Parts: sequence; C-alpha cells; structure tokens
Amino acid sequence: MFGNQTLYEFADAFTGHPVPASVLYQGVDTSKLSWAEQLWVDWYKYWGNPVIATGVMSFLLHEIVYFGRSIPWIIIDSMPSMRKYKLQPNKIPTAAEQWRCTRLVLLSHFTVELPQIWSFHPICEYFGMATHQVPFPSWTKMAWQILLFFVFEDTFHYWVHRAMHFGPLYKHIHKIHHEFSAPFGLAAEYAHPLEVLILGLGTIGGPFLLCAYTKDLHIITVYIWIVLRLFQAVDAHSGYDFPISMHNWLPIWAGADHHDYHHMAFLGCYSTSFRWWDHFMGTDVSYKKCRAREAEARRKAALETAKTK
Ligand SMILES: [Zn+2]
Ligand SMILES: [Zn+2]
Repeated sequence: MFGNQTLYEFADAFTGHPVPASVLYQGVDTSKLSWAEQLWVDWYKYWGNPVIATGVMSFLLHEIVYFGRSIPWIIIDSMPSMRKYKLQPNKIPTAAEQWRCTRLVLLSHFTVELPQIWSFHPICEYFGMATHQVPFPSWTKMAWQILLFFVFEDTFHYWVHRAMHFGPLYKHIHKIHHEFSAPFGLAAEYAHPLEVLILGLGTIGGPFLLCAYTKDLHIITVYIWIVLRLFQAVDAHSGYDFPISMHNWLPIWAGADHHDYHHMAFLGCYSTSFRWWDHFMGTDVSYKKCRAREAEARRKAALETAKTK
C-alpha cells in the first residue's frame, strides 16, 4: 500500500516530524533512569517518531482506562448483594443499554478523538510541554499541578454544563447524555460528540494554560491527571454510594451521590469533582432537600424496625 516505505516511514512522512531515537536521547545517561522512565524512553524509541508515539499512547490510555474502569461497575451491577448501595436500586442497566452505550462511546472516540492522534503532540510542543523527555518531574510538582487541573476542570465544567441545560443547547447536544436517568459507569462519555469535544476542553485546557504560562509541565503529569479524571467521571456515573466512597470522608468531593441526582432530577448538581460551585450558586438546594428527606425516611424505618423487634 505504501510502496517501498514501511508503515513507520509513511507515518514519519505524513507527520513531517521524524526524529530518530539517537537524536531524541542524545546526551541522556539512561543508566540513571528509574524503571518507569526507562519504559518511557523505550516507548519513544520503539515508535521512532514522537508524534505517533504520543498520539498512540494518548489514545490507548483513554480506551484502556475508560473501559477498564467500567468493568468493575458492570460486575457490581450483576450482583444483587450490591443493590443496597445503589442510589436508584430499581434501575439496573440492561445488557442492551450497556452495549448501546459502548457503541456510541466507541463511535465518538474513533471519530472525534482518533484523528487527534496526529495533532496532540504538535499542540503539546507548541505550548512548550515536555513529552519524550526524561527524567520525570518530582511527585510534589506533579501533585500541585494536578490539583490545579482538578479545580480548573471543575469550574469549567460547572459553567459549561450549566449552559448546556439551556433550551437549544440541551435539545440539540446535552439531551443524549441525559438519556439514562439512572447512570452507570459506561455512560460517563455517552454524549453527543460535540459535547465530548466541548467538555473535554475543561480536561485538557488546564494543562495547556498552565504550560503556556509556566513552560514547566511534563506530559506524564497530564496523563496521570487524565487517568484520575477518567476514574472520577466513570465512578461519578456508577450509581453506587458505598460507606467508603470518597465523598463520605472528603465532604467537598462530589462523587456518584452528587451526579446521580443530576441524572435523576435533570437539574442542579452541575459540577464534576467538587461541591463548592453548586453550594455557592444554590444549584444544589433541591438535592440537599431530597437527600435530607431520604435520610429522614431511613431513620423512621429504622425506628419502626427497632419497635417491632
Ligand atoms: Zn446535565
Ligand atoms: Zn453525567
């Protein structure tokens, strides 16, 4: 298909960005690298083209983490003993619903995201982000940068998601995501491709902004952030609230309890990770009343049970 060219050579010619490993790691003493950093170097050497190496890694990371994190929730949904932790226990997703969800998510990944494989690395480089470089930044630097990304994404998502509930935007774009009034893990990215693109800006916009200002960001930090963000999104749609769930010991964390209500009621609780925007903007009043009523009903039921014993 490509004549005498190998696939790698074709990719190099296509991206116009061939950088041999000998140039990429010239002067780097790889004997001093950690195990993870060595793997990183091997990956970039294997592809021999940083554009393809970064693009493929980004795409695979998303697919593996998104679907990998959804599997435990599919298993939990099949276990009747877990129903007591389900926020809407009468609404368990059927296999057909899960399959419908998987199909749309894959369609969106392959149409919206796959083409970005070719552009992600150049955009990162444009903003001055370190990609193939080693060593990695320190854990402390990664931690505060990721915390900033969480805060930025949560703020972006609150306002843009709230705007998505405005008449025409809801009707033409966001309505698809609300097809399931009782969400489940796989439904996290069940949305109009345009919504995936727009709300995705909240996830990737923070790193690009920080990088543009500081020129001090490594793509490994962005990958760790994306993994955590995917965990947050899938778990928030799981529909389960366990006693050990994060919001029970970190009250500012939104979690499934918060987002499940958004799907159930269609309004309020617009944030992703934290509860402060909904609290300060008063968009969680009905949620708080609903949970208070449920707690009161549980208290009365427990009293009745105690009396009959
Ligand atoms: Zn919504
Ligand atoms: Zn949702």
